[in-house]
Amino acid sequence: MDLRPYIRDVPDFPKPGIVFKDITPLLRSHAALDYVSHSLAEPFMDAGITSVVAIESRGFIFGSGVARVLGAGFVPIRKPGKLPAKTRRSEYTLEYGSGILEIHDDALTADDRVLIIDDVLATGGTAACSVTLVRECGATVVAAGFVIELTFLDGRAKLDGTPVHSLLAY
Ligand code: AMP
Repeated sequence: MDLRPYIRDVPDFPKPGIVFKDITPLLRSHAALDYVSHSLAEPFMDAGITSVVAIESRGFIFGSGVARVLGAGFVPIRKPGKLPAKTRRSEYTLEYGSGILEIHDDALTADDRVLIIDDVLATGGTAACSVTLVRECGATVVAAGFVIELTFLDGRAKLDGTPVHSLLAY
């Protein structure tokens, strides 16, 4: 299935010079959404994934579908102050400034094998921070999956050897 017709480019959002990859047309299509869940999960059906870790907020939409297909649990990574119980946090650099992400301290154990999911891999800062959090919890990062990869930003380079599976490259 060709997903490109379901991705809308929105120029200059959220700020001038950024071309935002809007996934809401994809979400409106049951066929496309179902295809994405299965395609992101497909290479990992026999990889012993116990947890899908997804990144707020668009990662949640795809992550829960992938977890369902893989027969795995779902663990959220969120922006600071959103998770209610004890958390661990990690900071990452953005183009200008920095960001912080959090995971529940007891969300993963050393027995967990994790697939990280988000909608877009851009500079890789968000995904790299998530890899750090999962590893700090003692779990194993098997791979990271994205609906869209902006290859010209070379986000893979930040992921420290973590295998990347993306469905669409721009
Ligand atoms: P990065 O940390 O640079 O890899 O950015 C990844 C995060 O920012 C993802 O959670 C995306 O949802 C979002 N993002 C970055 N660039 C774009 C873009 N051009 N279109 C849509 N979302 C983006």
